[in-house]
Amino acid sequence: YTGKTGSELLTEKLKKFKVHEYQSIPIVVEEDVSVYDAIITMFLEDVGTLFVVKEGSLLVGVLSRKDLLRASIGNQDLNSIPVHIIMTRMPNISVCRKDDLLLDAAQQLIEKQIDGLPIVKDVEEGLEVTGRITKTNITKALVELARDEHL
Ligand code: ADP
Repeated sequence: YTGKTGSELLTEKLKKFKVHEYQSIPIVVEEDVSVYDAIITMFLEDVGTLFVVKEGSLLVGVLSRKDLLRASIGNQDLNSIPVHIIMTRMPNISVCRKDDLLLDAAQQLIEKQIDGLPIVKDVEEGLEVTGRITKTNITKALVELARDEHL
């Protein structure tokens, strides 16, 4: 018997969760696709955040639902505006790496008031997007923890 309280045991487990254990597949668009096509992608892929890349996987920006809504206000032709005009761009993107603690990712979401983070891998050319962690992933981890499925 360790003498630890239930809450100490829970905390201990929670501090072992890594982002890669709970990640989702990242949905990406190239920087020159139109705002219109990004909106279509967001609906078809059923995600709230798109990552903008160049050359297939190098992170250059983030698009949230509200970024796309904001760009849709007014009479602009959404087919003629590329997403790189409206995205939040590097180096102002909060990221995490696959072995980071889920708890640290959660803290970044709170501090930056955002819904998700790209999981990236460092490569010579920059940051390669390999995954996605969102409030939904973190909620799932919490439910598993409470139901004691993560032993
Ligand atoms: P929404 O804007 O739809 O409420 P978010 O709260 O996730 O969604 O996004 C708020 C703002 O922060 C948006 O402008 C978005 O581009 C930006 N953003 C989202 N995720 C990140 C991130 N990981 N790093 C930096 N900025 C981000």
